[in-house]
This record gives sequence, structure tokens and C-alpha cells, in this order.
Amino acid sequence: MLKIKSIANSLEQWAPPSLALSYDNCGLLVGDPNQTIDKALVTLDVTEAVVQEAIEQQANLIIAHHPVIFKGLRSIRPTTDNQRAVILAIKHDIAIYAIHTNLDRVDDGVNKALADQLNLTNRSILEEASNLYKLITFVPTKDLPAVRNALFAIGAGGIGNYEKASFISSGFGSFQGNSSSSPSIGKAGEFKEVEEEKLEVLLTDTLLPSALNTLNENHPYEEIAYDVLSLQNKNKNHGSGMIGELSEALSSDDFIQYLKKHLGIQLVRHSQPIKNKIKRVAICGGAGFDLLKNAKQKGADAFLTADLKYHDFFEADDSLLLCDIGHYESEHWVIQEIKDFLTRNFANFDLLSTTVNTNPVHYSISIKDGKGKKD
Ligand SMILES: [Zn+2]
Repeated sequence: MLKIKSIANSLEQWAPPSLALSYDNCGLLVGDPNQTIDKALVTLDVTEAVVQEAIEQQANLIIAHHPVIFKGLRSIRPTTDNQRAVILAIKHDIAIYAIHTNLDRVDDGVNKALADQLNLTNRSILEEASNLYKLITFVPTKDLPAVRNALFAIGAGGIGNYEKASFISSGFGSFQGNSSSSPSIGKAGEFKEVEEEKLEVLLTDTLLPSALNTLNENHPYEEIAYDVLSLQNKNKNHGSGMIGELSEALSSDDFIQYLKKHLGIQLVRHSQPIKNKIKRVAICGGAGFDLLKNAKQKGADAFLTADLKYHDFFEADDSLLLCDIGHYESEHWVIQEIKDFLTRNFANFDLLSTTVNTNPVHYSISIKDGKGKKD
């Protein structure tokens, strides 16, 4: 029988919680990790209607992008939709798991789902997370294969499309333990020189704790000499936003039409059209205005995000088209992405996407000032 913790472990290998932003509240929000799961419902938001759907569908786990408990709950009373959702879930023994900014910050998460809809190619992360470390340790020559293989087994030494990358240099280590020591080579109080290998491997911050545990478990010495260096190198697979290219350059007007067609939306709020054609497109699902500077630095012709304010549009200038496509509209694609991921990893697991449109924003459009265009 499948337990919540198996699903959570799998999701967290995809989008490690350590990637989540500090204000976030992702992970298991309601329920017991040892609870057995019959069926799961995937959604962007947890609303009362979504929990009701889970009850009807007999799904006892809801996997959501947005955390239903976010800023904390001082009481759980049926006064707001999110509180009613939590009450209903608990009453029906339905667990709720959130995979939020951690899924925003992997290269195959929220922004990949949006980039797929827009058919963007030559993709890269818009703002790379600079969380790379180098682990350097000194191992007796005969123990090198065991230590290095153990580190490789947990994913240390990964660089882009390469794994098991390391550097070895040979030398001599020396030590002399005091009377309380019990050295694995020589005796307490004896000065020793040992042929050692200096082993260097690259790590992401998410791997650092398990790499140090692995080193402890596999290195023969009582006191292990090692250095952990924080690097300036960027981690190209983790970070915020994404940038890619359209197959052909489009005018601002044609680009807006392209967005409407590919994203199935009626409304795009955007800055003034630009003279140059649009080829390089930066995106950030959800509220991503802070990444405008990165979009400009990376030569984007357009930046697509959500939750923009009036003054934000003035920052676009005439070299970039800034577009607000709506928060829900930019992110709901990830529902299928989560479903696909779990289907690949748990062949016989019953998964549903919500049929509830949880977008809290409704549109009522009538253009009066002449700035809008009718399709
Ligand atoms: Zn969001």
C-alpha cells in the first residue's frame, strides 16, 4: 500500500524543499505521512470546492501548488474559504500536500510547464540559484574508491548533463593522535605519514547534509579532514524564471495574439508595444516582477508574469514588452506536470486533476478609452 511519505519523498527529489523561498510553507500541511493513499487529486489551489471534489472522488490526498495554510492560522473556524477547506479535509481524513516555490525553482517545474505551452526553445533559468559547494576530503589511497563511489551514489559530482565528476590529486597526509585517540592507521601517540588522495566533488546545497553523512559513514579515519567551500559558480538547473526563444520573431500585436491562442486566455495586460520584434521571451509563473531586471540583462524582448501593479508597467521601457497574463493562467499548467511526474514514478497510482477552476479572479471586460483592441 502506498503511503503519503512515499509520494512526498518522490516529489521532494524532484523539487527539494531546500529550494523553497524562506517565506514559503510547503510540504505536508494536513495529515499523517504514514497514512495510506488510495487516490490523489492534483490542483493549483485548495478551496472548499476542491476538497468537496476529493470527497466525491474518494481521493484522500490533495496535492496542491499553493499552500492552503500559508501565513499561519490563528484559528480554524469556517469564516474563510481556506479555513473551511482545512476543516472539511480534516473531517474526511483527507491529507493536503503543497509543492510551491520549490517547484518554481527547478528547471522542469512551473516554468517548464508554461514554456511548453509557448513552445519556447533554447531554454535556461532566468535567475540561477547560486547554491553550489565543493567538498574536498583526504582519503587513504586504498579507501578512495569506496568513499568516492558512496558520494557519487547520493548524487555528488553532478555538473549539468554529467555525473560522477571528481578530481583526484595524490600526496601524503600526516597525523599523530593523542592518548585518547584510536587511529585506523598506526597507534595513539605515533607520528604517521600516509599516502592519501585529495578528492574534490561538486555539490548542490540540497546534497550537502547527506554528503557529509556519507563521508562520515565511509571514510576510515576517526577524525576526517574535509573542507566545504561555497562557490560563486551558478547552479544552472535551479533558480527562478526561465528564458527561451520563439520559433519566429513576432510583432508586439502578434505576440499578444500568440499568448491568447497558446494559453487559452482572453486578456493580457501589457506595457506599450515595442518597435522591435519579439523573439527572446522571459517567463515567470505567478508573481515575478522582481525578475524584470534579469529579463533585461538576458536580452529578453518580452517578459511574461503575473500580479503586476500600475507602476510596474512604467519599468518596461521601449525595449521590452511586459505582460501580465494572470496568476492562475500562468501556473495552472503545472497540474498536468505534477500528474505526469507521479504517473511516471508510481505506475498503478490513481491520480486525478481537479475539474474545479480555482481562479479567484473573474473578468468583466469593456474597453472605453481606446487603448484596448477588440479581437
Ligand atoms: Zn502561484
